[in-house]
Amino acid sequence: MTTHTPVTKNQTVTLSFEDLTHDGAGVAKLDGYPVFVPRALPGETGTAKVVKVKKNFAIGRLLELTEESTNRAEPPCPIFKRCGGCQLQHLDYEGQLAYKTKHVTDVLARIGKIEDVTVHSTLGMEEPWRYRNKAQVPVGEQNGEIVAGFYAERSHEIVDMPSCVIQNEENDRVVQLVKGLAKKYGIRAYDEKKHKGTLRHIVTRHGKTTGELMVVLVTRGKELPNKKNIVEEIRENLPEVKSIVQNINPKRTNVIFGDKTEVLWGEEVIYDYIGDIKFAISARSFYQVNPVQTKVLYDKALEYADLNGDETVIDAYCGIGTISLFLAQKAKQVLGVEIVLEAISDAKNNAILNGLTNTEFAVGEAEKVMPWWYAQGVRPDVIVVDPPRKGCDEALLDAIADMKPKRVVYVSCNPATLARDLQYLEEKGFKTQEVQPVDMFPQTTHCEAVAKIELV
Ligand code: SAH
Repeated sequence: MTTHTPVTKNQTVTLSFEDLTHDGAGVAKLDGYPVFVPRALPGETGTAKVVKVKKNFAIGRLLELTEESTNRAEPPCPIFKRCGGCQLQHLDYEGQLAYKTKHVTDVLARIGKIEDVTVHSTLGMEEPWRYRNKAQVPVGEQNGEIVAGFYAERSHEIVDMPSCVIQNEENDRVVQLVKGLAKKYGIRAYDEKKHKGTLRHIVTRHGKTTGELMVVLVTRGKELPNKKNIVEEIRENLPEVKSIVQNINPKRTNVIFGDKTEVLWGEEVIYDYIGDIKFAISARSFYQVNPVQTKVLYDKALEYADLNGDETVIDAYCGIGTISLFLAQKAKQVLGVEIVLEAISDAKNNAILNGLTNTEFAVGEAEKVMPWWYAQGVRPDVIVVDPPRKGCDEALLDAIADMKPKRVVYVSCNPATLARDLQYLEEKGFKTQEVQPVDMFPQTTHCEAVAKIELV
């Protein structure tokens, strides 16, 4: 069957852009047929070369702009176009926040059929740069030289990166130091095609309020030549480092961490504060990457939970207990559940660290533990969920419906699964009251949002 598309490959077309896709490409329509062009903005007109033609859409490469958006900005990062890490540096921050509000609103309506709900304007940062507290940098070799940086967009080519404009300076320093030490001590980078070599990733974490640093060297095997010297030089050069660990990942995989972590020097964790609460964070535990906005996000979750001190609250997907401990300050009792064992052990320690005795943490799949809790007679007043990108399992949403809490607070890093899950809950008698997007990831297309849902 032949299909008729209004464009052909390699053709140069003139386009007027009217929207942005979820991954930040400009959208122009030719007789209703969409053409997606990376780094073009709504309100702009220009020419693009068609590089891919599909039945329902085409992809173009931007050639020239004849009309520029008033929200267009000069990307400060020299490798913005090659690195896949940021997608929106060419859009000013006001434009980014408006894009995120619109994206959440559109997706709720399109996927969840949720239209009569207030989506507030996205809460942004005063300084939307250098915000990340964690770097996970792949290591490779180019012409026999160690490189460390980012995978170029849609590829496995490693782009060397001396500095990253959304990364905390401290993390940049760690990465540059370790890269230099790997060179000096002849450490070979891991070669993913041949499954040979040693150093796979340099991971660093920074506690914004304590200044503490953790360095994680992810290696293919247990062996790390000159381990002692490397540790000593890291300590000499960066006294803020409180923890140096080696994680061993012997698998052929894109997943960064392996199962085994060994402390090479110092503590197993570093500490950080969000508000008044102190957190111990270990190498593999999930901890929000934007500490400034995490406070904003959790404050909003707490506001939506609307606690008076008498409630039993469940925090599903609780990680190291961050939201749980925020809630525990205002609730009678908080039950947290999380799949990663180390995170739960961090959560328990964090509760002790903060003298919060009204918490209990369980390790397991939230979609199994919640129905079990229901069967045990647990009837929470409020349930908070903060799932990974794939959203909540139906078994978990069913358990929520069975437990009949007054309120559900849904913290989401993916508007599409948020919309799907809200629709499911609405079918079970809940009603979405309001949604607040919070910009956790400036310069990127990632959207985080908190929704307040009530049983009606
Ligand atoms: N609320 C925490 C963590 C949110 S990230 C915070 O704000 O820091 C999502 C968490 O869900 C991660 O810690 C991840 O390990 C966990 N997770 C993923 N799948 C899960 C599942 N099926 N059951 C329970 N936890 C899960």
